[in-house]
This record gives sequence, C-alpha cells and structure tokens, in this order.
Amino acid sequence: MYDPLLKNQIDTNQDYPNSYWANNSGAAPASDGELEGDIESDVVIIGGGYTGLSCALHLAKEHGVKPLLLEANQTAWGCSGRNAGFILKSTGRKPWGTMVKDWGEEVMRGIYAEACAGVDTVNALIEQGIDCESQTPGYIRIAHKPSMFNALQKQADLLQRMFGYDVDVITRQQLQQDYVGDENAHGAIRFHDGYGINPLKLAWGYQQLAMKAGAKIHTHSPVIEWQQQQSKELLITPKARITADKVVLATNGYTPKGFHQAINNKTLPVLSQIIVTRALTEAELEQCNFLTSNVVMDTRALKYYYRKLPDNRILFGGRGAITGKGAENPYYADRLLSVLKQNFPDLSDLTYDYAWAGWICMALDDIPHINSAEDRSNVFYAAGYCGNGVSFSVQAGKRLAQMVAGETLPNLPLYQTQLKPFPMPALRRLGQWGYFHYGKFKDNYL
Ligand SMILES: Cc1cc2nc3c(=O)[nH]c(=O)nc-3n(C[C@H](O)[C@H](O)[C@H](O)COP(=O)(O)OP(=O)(O)OC[C@H]3O[C@@H](n4cnc5c(N)ncnc54)[C@H](O)[C@@H]3O)c2cc1C
Repeated sequence: MYDPLLKNQIDTNQDYPNSYWANNSGAAPASDGELEGDIESDVVIIGGGYTGLSCALHLAKEHGVKPLLLEANQTAWGCSGRNAGFILKSTGRKPWGTMVKDWGEEVMRGIYAEACAGVDTVNALIEQGIDCESQTPGYIRIAHKPSMFNALQKQADLLQRMFGYDVDVITRQQLQQDYVGDENAHGAIRFHDGYGINPLKLAWGYQQLAMKAGAKIHTHSPVIEWQQQQSKELLITPKARITADKVVLATNGYTPKGFHQAINNKTLPVLSQIIVTRALTEAELEQCNFLTSNVVMDTRALKYYYRKLPDNRILFGGRGAITGKGAENPYYADRLLSVLKQNFPDLSDLTYDYAWAGWICMALDDIPHINSAEDRSNVFYAAGYCGNGVSFSVQAGKRLAQMVAGETLPNLPLYQTQLKPFPMPALRRLGQWGYFHYGKFKDNYL
C-alpha cells in the first residue's frame, strides 16, 4: 500500500480499495476527467477528499471563483471514501478541558462553535439532496473499564456546565437492555446528535454540488512536480502544466514525502483499519441484543469503534499496521474480529467480508491547522484532523475558501497557528510504535 512517509510520488490510476463502501454504493458520478494541456487558473486545489471538495464548492458558490481541483486517483480515493462514516462534533483529538487549560475558555468555546458549525454544514449539504444513507442519530461512548464510567460521568457534567449540552448517562445494564449487549461495556454516555453515513456517497454528493456550482474536478491528475515562480505556482501533472495564482493543499494524510514545505515533517500519517462482517441473522442480532444503529466508540487510548450498518452487518474499526507494507497483512483485520468477538461472545462464528485501511493524519498538537504557508502567502493548506475529519474537514474547506478569497478567519489556534514540525521527524514511526505500546499498557492496567 502507498506509504506517504516513504514515497515522494502518490500512487496513481488506483481503484478504490476493496471496501464495503466501494462495493455497495453504485457507480461513481462522472468527473471532468484527466486534465490535459497548458492552463492558467486563479485557484488550484490539490486533493479530492472532503477538504478539497468543500473548498471547491464554497469557492464556486460563495466567492465567485471557479477553481480547478486535481485528484491523483478518483474522488475520495483517500480517507474520505474509506472512513467509518461517524459524523461527530470534533476538531482533532485535543480534549475540551485541555483547551481551557492551554488557551482559556473563550478560545475553547470558539473551537467548539467551529465543531458545531462543521456538523451543521454537513447537515445542510446533505439536505440539498445527498443520499448517503444517514442512520438514526446518536453517538454512544462506551466505558471499556469501570473506572472509565466515572470519567464519562464527569465528561457529561462538564459538557452540561460548559455548553449546556445534555448527554444521557447510561449504566451497563441499561446499555445492554436498550441499545447493545456489549459484554465489555461498563456503562456509557450517549450524545443525541452524532450519526452514521455512507462516506463515499457523501463525497460523491459534494463532488456533484461542487461541479454544479462551477468547479472543475479533474481525477487521475496527480501533481508530480511543483515549482514556485515569482508570484505564481507551476504545477505539473502527467498531461498538463498549470500556472496558478493560488494553490490549496488538501492532501492531508496522503501527502507524498517532501511535497511542500508547509506540511513536510509536520504530520504523521497513521493507518486506521476497518472490517465489515457478513450480515447478522435476526437470531444473532437478538442474541446480542444489537438494537441500536447509533455510532459507538470506546474510551481506550487505542480506540475501537463500531456501528450496525443498514443491512445488519457490523462495521468494526481500530488501529492498523504501522507501515504501508504491513497494511495488507490479515493479522490486523483478524485482530479486530477477535476484539469484536470478545465484546459479543455469542457471535463466535462471525466472519468478515471486507477489510481495508487508510491513512489518518496526526498533528503534533492534536488539532487541525488551516492556514497559508509561512513563507508563501498564496499557498493554503488544511491538515491534521487526527482521525476525526468527516465533519470538520468540510468546515475547514469552507474556511479555506474564505481565506483564499481574502477574508480574515476567527482568531483561533485552528486558523492562526501553523502545523508544528515533529521533533526528529525521521523517528516518527518509532514514536508511534512506542505510543501503541504505552496505549496498550494504559488501556489494560492504568
Ligand atoms: C479507516 C478510517 C476511518 C475513519 N473514520 C472516521 C470517522 O468515522 N469519523 C471522522 O470524523 N473521521 C474519520 N476518519 C478520518 C476522515 O476520513 C478524514 O479526516 C477526512 O476524510 C480527511 O479528508 P481530506 O479531504 O482532508 O483527506 P483525504 O480524503 O485523505 O483526501 C486527500 C486526497 O489527496 C489526494 N492526493 C494526495 N497527493 C496528491 C497529489 N500529489 N496530486 C493530486 N492528489 C493528491 C489523495 O489521492 C486523496 O484522495 C477516518 C479515517 C480512516 C482512514
């Protein structure tokens, strides 16, 4: 599998991974195809995931700019077409309490408002007619051990105090009776407003809206060379040379090694792995009282998450291999199946039909950054959603469009600070390996 830490060119002409989504979403909508020729453009966006598509859509619709979007493979070939489809209020993985300590309450509230705006924007776009199989609202956060139930109760108090946000506190018994018979759950809290969607259909819907608004979406058009000219940027693809006034970098965890100084050595792509099981029979669903279609995540440092899909399969996810080379090793998918079976011992003969992985994008300070490049004010980027980008990447794309159009963004670390370089970047994978071991120890013993 393509490994962005090792390769300085992205793989091209790749099919979608053999995922549940790619096999169950029908045909992809037509794009504007591969770009050819010598072209001049006001704005070029590199990367055709949610960030790039949202930026294209908002530039065309709200700022009168008709951008060119260049995607190396097919729309949403990266994370956006292969995620778990959890729509949650999030901006990276820095806890609200830590934000208050580091930046004060006003900033934390500003960031919370951006997280809410992300979900509102996604909802508003879906309402324009995107059929992405939205499921019943609800996000259940499960305590993976008794002490974490206390922590979740404290979180519920904090959410109520800070945001007037009511979440349900659910005992183990209530959870097993009313939602799902997860044997490893020690209570939970339930948010009323997260939900699950088909992520690939969502991206295709954004593509159609962006094209309708006047953006050009060129798939199979990888940027293989990037030269800075005096005040312009020259981008070279296999069949085109594009001179652009402004460039938006929306390549996130799939950015090839050394691609641009705005991002080089400032992110850590980490593999997240998903399996989708065969459909459960009615008897199996009854045995484990799997009533809910809410999205579910646990409290581990190395989180597991799951949801029941509309056709009664279970999507189950967690961390994957460390390198692209290891990604295809069935060990990682088998490990997820065995954790699933520990949660649901009655499903001991369950098998999976689909397994795939994708590169989420970690930032050193656990928040995404949306900004212009430090030394190149006509280059803009958004990256570092830390595995929580389905809703916030759309907000980031909208904010990028405003920035490109010359508007000032809110005074928040998300928009006013740069991605930070990783110390000793050549050792990022070693650090990740160490964190995985620490996380495993913490989840089991602390
Ligand atoms: C397994 C998995 C599960 C996840 N589950 C969730 C979830 O449930 N909820 C949630 O909030 N988040 C989740 N995420 C994270 C979420 O999917 C991402 O944060 C989000 O999709 C990022 O979108 P993006 O547009 O920034 O990047 P991407 O969708 O990764 O798009 C980047 C694109 O850039 C293209 N590209 C790279 N280099 C070039 C180049 N040189 N030329 C042209 N194109 C290029 C790539 O081909 C790629 O398509 C998950 C991620 C994974 C991998």
